Amino acid sequence: MSLVGINSKPVTCDHWIGGEPKTPVSGRYREVISPYTGSAIGKVALGSKADVDAAVAAAQKAFPAWRATPVKERAQLLFKFRELVLANLDELAHLAASESGKTHGEARAEVLKGIEVTEFALSLQNSDSGGIMDVSRGVSCEMRREPLGVVAGIVPFNFPAMVPMWMYPIAIALGNCFVLKPSEKVPLTSQRVARLTKEAGFPDGVFSLLNGTREAVEALIDHDLVKAVGFVGSSPVALDVYKRATARGKRALCLGGAKNPLIVVPDADEAITVRGVVDSFTGCAGQRCMAASLMIAVGDVDHLIGKIRKTAAELPVGPGMGAIVDKGALDRIHRHVDDAEKAGAKIIVDGRKVKAPAGHEAGYWFGPTIIDHARPDMACAREEIFGPVITIVRAKTLAEAMAIDAGNPFGNATSVFTTSGAVARYVADHSASGMIGVNIGVPVPREPFSFGGTKSSKYGHSDITGESSLDFWSDLKKITVKWSPQSDASWMS
Ligand code: NAD
Repeated sequence: MSLVGINSKPVTCDHWIGGEPKTPVSGRYREVISPYTGSAIGKVALGSKADVDAAVAAAQKAFPAWRATPVKERAQLLFKFRELVLANLDELAHLAASESGKTHGEARAEVLKGIEVTEFALSLQNSDSGGIMDVSRGVSCEMRREPLGVVAGIVPFNFPAMVPMWMYPIAIALGNCFVLKPSEKVPLTSQRVARLTKEAGFPDGVFSLLNGTREAVEALIDHDLVKAVGFVGSSPVALDVYKRATARGKRALCLGGAKNPLIVVPDADEAITVRGVVDSFTGCAGQRCMAASLMIAVGDVDHLIGKIRKTAAELPVGPGMGAIVDKGALDRIHRHVDDAEKAGAKIIVDGRKVKAPAGHEAGYWFGPTIIDHARPDMACAREEIFGPVITIVRAKTLAEAMAIDAGNPFGNATSVFTTSGAVARYVADHSASGMIGVNIGVPVPREPFSFGGTKSSKYGHSDITGESSLDFWSDLKKITVKWSPQSDASWMS
């Protein structure tokens, strides 16, 4: 495996403010560790209030000219940016894989998904034309979108390219200036992206990077000129960020964690189900908010569980499945599996003693793991483990399965594996999750359909992509006009 900083020079990730790199005012940095090797591949700036002030000031300075730039011109820059991202696809994937632990193929796929959101954003020049209507004699109403000003995005480690791209292309296309706070664990990809925005011709200050941790996030939320906060990360932090931003009168959309169930019924197609379940819980080593982490086995599906078990046990870590992001995350996953075993569940595929790929023994590895015969009230069936671990609970009926789904504190996704249209329809109608899959283990909607969950998987209104996101990143202005005098009286006269 070829890795940034292992086979090349370590990278310094500074802020990106006013169209150029800026060292942190405090002079503080922390190491960036590759999950593949456990060793440093770079260092990242730790932002403080002074850096936030500088980033927001640069963004605010750029805002008047950017909001006055016609949407068709903004879209041209996004076109250019899209071309540059595609031209640098392998390099971006290489950075994202090296810092997050996913495989190169998974990292390429996430960049391409980010491109899809960029394409949606640049299509706004033709689709989001607002509206005008004669609402009374001689009176018209017009509605148009207005940008908010400086807006911020705070993002997690697990999709260094894609999750930021859920936000900034749309926010920027709508005329906002965007400040991105990447995860301190994975700052390398965003740093490369910042340079691509410059190459694409984005005016200085339209896209900024503010690196750091909680201190930087809180200063960003508290800044008076930051008008909206998009957040993606774990649920407790999502809720804190939501409360902090809304208490200051800002709009906030905060996506949190997940515990996505796959409901498997006896008539499910064997090949589709086995592949769907295994790929869902092992893809990105289970470190994605759309990974299945709970399987609700309805009735007798032991023949399918046997095949799932065999397929998962044969998956090699390294080439087939990437690494866990850091030591803390690895310890958490171990703890969850140990606790499940102590609570009486059976570990039928055990990734705890996985063999690291040769040459990467100091990396953070955990093999595919299946916890069977768990009760729905066990922690392994309710809490987000965020590793390549699936917990199986048994249900006698579909109604019982739906009751378990309803009791899920999270609401990102629920999938059903079945060959019956009626069963599929029943699950889609009755699940409270925001995204439903039928025979799909990772039911991520594609643009223009929007991405977003419910319950503690999302705090705030609207979704983070698609049509629904437009209302989050803009205000609707209504202009009511009367020019000609009217002889007949009306409510408008
Ligand atoms: P995290 O919550 O630890 O961090 C997310 C961001 O918040 C990072 O930029 C981090 O620097 C910052 N942060 C961390 N602690 C903070 C605090 N106390 N105050 C303010 N900011 C803080 O999440 P993570 O470990 O980077 O990412 C994994 C989590 O993200 C999982 O729970 C996963 O389900 C979730 N996630 C959700 C979605 C979704 O669409 N719902 C998508 C991807 C990831």
